[in-house]
Amino acid sequence: MKVILVAGARPNFMKIAPIIRAINVAQRNGQDMEYRLVHTGQHYDDKLSKVFFEELQIPEPDINLGAGSGTQAEQTAKIMVEFERYLTSNPVDIVIVVGDVNSTMACTIVAKKLETKVAHVEGGIRSWDMSMPEEINRIATDALADYFFTTSRVANENLKKEGKSDDQIYFVGNTMIDSLLLNLTKIKKPKIFDERALTTGYYYVLTLHRPSNVDRLESFANLIGEIDSSAEAPVIFPVHPRTRKNFNLLKQAPKHIQPTDPLSYLEFIFLVKNSKGVITDSGGVQEETTVLGVPCLTLRNNTERPETVTVGTNVMIGDDMTALRNTLHKLNAGDWKKGEIPELWDGRTAERIVDVLAKLKA
Ligand code: UDP
Repeated sequence: MKVILVAGARPNFMKIAPIIRAINVAQRNGQDMEYRLVHTGQHYDDKLSKVFFEELQIPEPDINLGAGSGTQAEQTAKIMVEFERYLTSNPVDIVIVVGDVNSTMACTIVAKKLETKVAHVEGGIRSWDMSMPEEINRIATDALADYFFTTSRVANENLKKEGKSDDQIYFVGNTMIDSLLLNLTKIKKPKIFDERALTTGYYYVLTLHRPSNVDRLESFANLIGEIDSSAEAPVIFPVHPRTRKNFNLLKQAPKHIQPTDPLSYLEFIFLVKNSKGVITDSGGVQEETTVLGVPCLTLRNNTERPETVTVGTNVMIGDDMTALRNTLHKLNAGDWKKGEIPELWDGRTAERIVDVLAKLKA
């Protein structure tokens, strides 16, 4: 069986690395499985792409489609044009897409129009919030894909309600957590830890990149102001490129919030693991904090990852500033639920995916 794995943006790399590893094991065990890796170039900055290839030991992609930045439509269109060219001259049995970025949707549409089967890793999750570009990517991808590898039973139910049949849906767990568990012994103290005299358990980590939080300067400034005045410890803020422009435009320099460039994966996980808590709007970070047992306060009105709230350490705050202040006070006081690990988030998801792929061929 020949597959193409598609990756394009930061959160994709953690999801594909374990699948590549599992395919290599299957090959060594004599299974007939071959893959090509396509990097769409959606993220091209070294700090959002190259560093993950090095740290997660992902091989050089077979091709980089060089999509680069642009509006939603420009980026999606560029990926489609280039991927159509590539898939036409390099046909495979299945295209595997992960997550919910523009590359996920763009390559799914292209593959289906070239009559190629598509498997969606992390299929079926829904925020029910159509103002999120990611939600549109998820719905469009799942409308077309043939097979779904899911992270939760809720995702299975969502897919069934959308008309998918049992033989298309495989509840396998979470490949992002495969990467987390595999790399826990390799995490690296970032330089800023000593430079800024951080102490384990006495600082917070902040990440923000969702358009609803960062694109409007006024509401972004309010959010930063509220976190800054309620947090009673340093807040380390690796600033996503999307967020940088408005962060630089803030009129008042924050007291507690300390910006830094995006960190490498091994550095970021070190920082999260040793923190008092995380404030975020990231999808992946909600999952990672749940598995690390670190308190997570999510600045969104909804989550497509409900198990991080019902089972894990995540609390949703939405855009209510009073709730944010009160919840930060609880976090300061160490008053937080303990949380458990969601079902099948055990580090063996990629193996299960490759087992299923091998059977699909039969
Ligand atoms: N991450 C990282 N460095 C950082 C911030 C995040 O390596 O400075 C990792 C994080 O551990 C997680 C992934 O990036 O694995 C999440 O990516 P992002 O928040 O961009 O996307 P989302 O999960 O919201 O789609």
